[in-house]
Amino acid sequence: MQTPLSLSSVEVSVVIPVYNEEGGLQALFDRVYPALDSLGESYEVIFVNDGSVDRSPQMLAAQFHKRPDVTRVILFNGNFGQHMAILAGFEHTRGRIVITLDADLQNPPEEIPRLVAEMRKGHDYVGTIRRQRNDSAFRRYASRAMNRLREKITKIKMTDQGCMLRAYDRNVIDTINACREVNTFIPALAYTFSSNPVEIEVGHEQRHAGESKYSLYQLIRLNFDLVTGFSIVPLQWFSAIGTVLSISSAGLFVILLIRRFLLGSEVQGVFTLFALNFFLVGIMLFGIGLLGEYVGRIYQEVRDRPRYRIQAVLERDPRDPKTDNAAEASCAQ
Ligand code: UDP
Ligand code: MG
Repeated sequence: MQTPLSLSSVEVSVVIPVYNEEGGLQALFDRVYPALDSLGESYEVIFVNDGSVDRSPQMLAAQFHKRPDVTRVILFNGNFGQHMAILAGFEHTRGRIVITLDADLQNPPEEIPRLVAEMRKGHDYVGTIRRQRNDSAFRRYASRAMNRLREKITKIKMTDQGCMLRAYDRNVIDTINACREVNTFIPALAYTFSSNPVEIEVGHEQRHAGESKYSLYQLIRLNFDLVTGFSIVPLQWFSAIGTVLSISSAGLFVILLIRRFLLGSEVQGVFTLFALNFFLVGIMLFGIGLLGEYVGRIYQEVRDRPRYRIQAVLERDPRDPKTDNAAEASCAQ
């Protein structure tokens, strides 16, 4: 039904990051390929193994040998994170439309045709909103609060930032590929480059197998990256807070000076002073931390190390569609 991969013929590329997903991979294969077949267009599926330590790489290799005409597998030699895996996938895509999907089947592959249809209407970015999110209540509330804060700080309008089932136009992908950011958040990056974005509602399912790969700390880090990577508004807010505090402490000083002359020396209010001091020290430490976030980002950028390392790429040589090819150990930035 599909034409073999070649530079010009692929319409839809699907990028799937995989990290220790052996329990759900077979179910993923069983649903992704039929969903794409139903499109009736040429496609490729790019799996990026993000340094899994279970049987995922073997299962991906087996799948590649089963469907070499439409499958490509990128094997990292370590765990570089979901977003780096997707970026590596992007660099290997050829499709005019690129779709990202989680490997745990929380994003139903059957929604892909709806995303493609939306792109065909002329949009260059299709974001998604999970109709009924199947995650813990804590994650739902925390992510709603973060969504609101992020929208204020970054001007990026995403109703549901966490859903990775999204579609991007070739031009947006090319621009993302030209970026060399170390810690980034792909849906937000793509949003800043898109000119005609749209959002649609999609289904959301329970994880098919295994557990979420994100700890609470990693989720907090991801949100910090999202805010500091796309805006310097927090720094500007901090300068504003600093200015207000300086003016109020100058006022306090004047009041205390007047009282000193009118009432003589006073010793009451020591604890109020303590409270005030702790409060100010807290603000100062927060400010230093915030500054550190930006300095850290600059440090990571100027080091300019490769963002990930590819151990092998399993793909069929486009010039010779009969042979399967495993390109070895290329180092990508
Ligand atoms: N993932 C990855 N590298 C990581 C963590 C996760 O490639 O270091 C992949 C994972 O295999 C899955 C997707 O990213 O396909 C989303 O991960 P997960 O389902 O654990 O996140 P959640 O749905 O809990 O946000
Ligand atoms: Mg998930």
